Amino acid sequence: MSLRLYNTLSGKIEDFHPIDSNRVRMYACGPTVYDYGHIGNFRTFIAVDLLYRFLRQSGYDVRYVMNITDVDDKIIRNAAQAGTTVQQYTAKFIKAFFEDSATLGIEPPIFVRATEHIAGMAAFIAELVSKGFAYRTEDGSYYFRIAKFPEYGKLSKKDFAGMNDGARVDVDEYEKDSARDFALWKAPKPGEASWDTSIGPGRPGWHIECSVMSMEELGPSFDLHAGGEDLIFPHHENEIAQSESMTGKQFARYWFHARFLLVEGQKMSKSLGNFFTIRDLVLRGHKPSSIRWLLTQVPYRNQLNFTFDGLKAAASSVEKLRNFRFRLTNAQFPAGSTPLMAQLADETTAKMKAALDDDLNTAEAQAAIFDMLRKANTALDASEVHQEDTKALLAEIFAVLKDDDLPKMKAILEWARGEGREKEISPELLDIAGSAQLTDEQVNQKLAEMDAARKTRNFKASDALRAELTDAGIIVENTKEGVRWRRK
Ligand code: AMP
Ligand code: ZN
Repeated sequence: MSLRLYNTLSGKIEDFHPIDSNRVRMYACGPTVYDYGHIGNFRTFIAVDLLYRFLRQSGYDVRYVMNITDVDDKIIRNAAQAGTTVQQYTAKFIKAFFEDSATLGIEPPIFVRATEHIAGMAAFIAELVSKGFAYRTEDGSYYFRIAKFPEYGKLSKKDFAGMNDGARVDVDEYEKDSARDFALWKAPKPGEASWDTSIGPGRPGWHIECSVMSMEELGPSFDLHAGGEDLIFPHHENEIAQSESMTGKQFARYWFHARFLLVEGQKMSKSLGNFFTIRDLVLRGHKPSSIRWLLTQVPYRNQLNFTFDGLKAAASSVEKLRNFRFRLTNAQFPAGSTPLMAQLADETTAKMKAALDDDLNTAEAQAAIFDMLRKANTALDASEVHQEDTKALLAEIFAVLKDDDLPKMKAILEWARGEGREKEISPELLDIAGSAQLTDEQVNQKLAEMDAARKTRNFKASDALRAELTDAGIIVENTKEGVRWRRK
């Protein structure tokens, strides 16, 4: 079986075939860098990251481009309020976005920035004007004439038949019912950032940014365009109108939209106090691996209800996977392999691939891993696992097993201190960060001392060592395969 994806444009699940045999060209709308990204934004970015990884795993050569919107209405407003330039204002949030993406284990796409493509946008608009699709207004702004693009509405499935030709809207975001000519270019207003270009001074509208950057990087027609569900209208509808008017060709073939993340059943908003960034959650003591696991638990085409109970459950799932790895990597097994375990590994690979091929059904893929874990743990208890089996079983589990939560959490702790946000640092985070005070070698050294003490029946010394480890956030467990430890 091969990949099947829901395409917003056709409203159906379709077989995925790239235009150019084995090469996939994809574009995702990136962050508007006027603030720290929230967990909803990252739900969408992780969904696209998963698609990117799975396409590569399926053998495609993928060129994945993401833009950074570093100029728009909100940025200009906030930069003016902060009394800084647009560049200075966005630099901090661009850096934060890269850091947060790395914290969540997102593989970096090719990044493009709107402010570095202004000349291309001006040239694109000039050409739309010469083709009759755009016009200039008195003040030097430019608008797209939607009446010239009869297919307007084909993505959002809105019927704009009765629309008012020539009515204009110049804000970047607007409601579905206002199908109006939208701003491609905004003439400068006093105190606003502006660029001198071939079509005069001003700044680009949000929609033109993505059309120009995606086509410059990927060509006039490419395979897939992604974003959150709120971008279907007007942003993506407008991108299609601009791009297809320009080239007369189909712009993107597949449109991939992640549904929204809700918090405890409600829309996330600052006023409700349920608005969280990655940093907020880490400061409360939650691990990046748990956050990523939770954000992928529900397939991207269903809304995801974020709850703290869910986050705890995700943490325990990750813990189970890591314990499993520990069992497989820290004990001695007889040489060779067993047909039963080889079969289990093969079956799990097949089940995970089938689940992801089915419109990225991450819930089923995760279920397949846990099914394997259950069966393999039973085999481990019965001493039925051999050396070669462990490799096959471990190969099934994603990067989530790489346990690099601690340095990431410590970096956020330091960041909070640097920003004067000590009050937000929870005792839980301090506790976890404390466990970094002992290196792996030091822990192993203490365990060896504990063992030696026990052998000479010096239980007082061995208990003291164990207490020392517990205080440093190290959990020591005696198992069938011997003593093992992990950080809290
Ligand atoms: P923005 O920085 O607002 O341009 O948004 C960046 C990405 O996050 C876009 O693809 C949005 O559609 C997406 N997004 C915004 N809010 C949410 C949410 N609550 N759940 C999922 N995705 C979201
Ligand atoms: Zn975009």
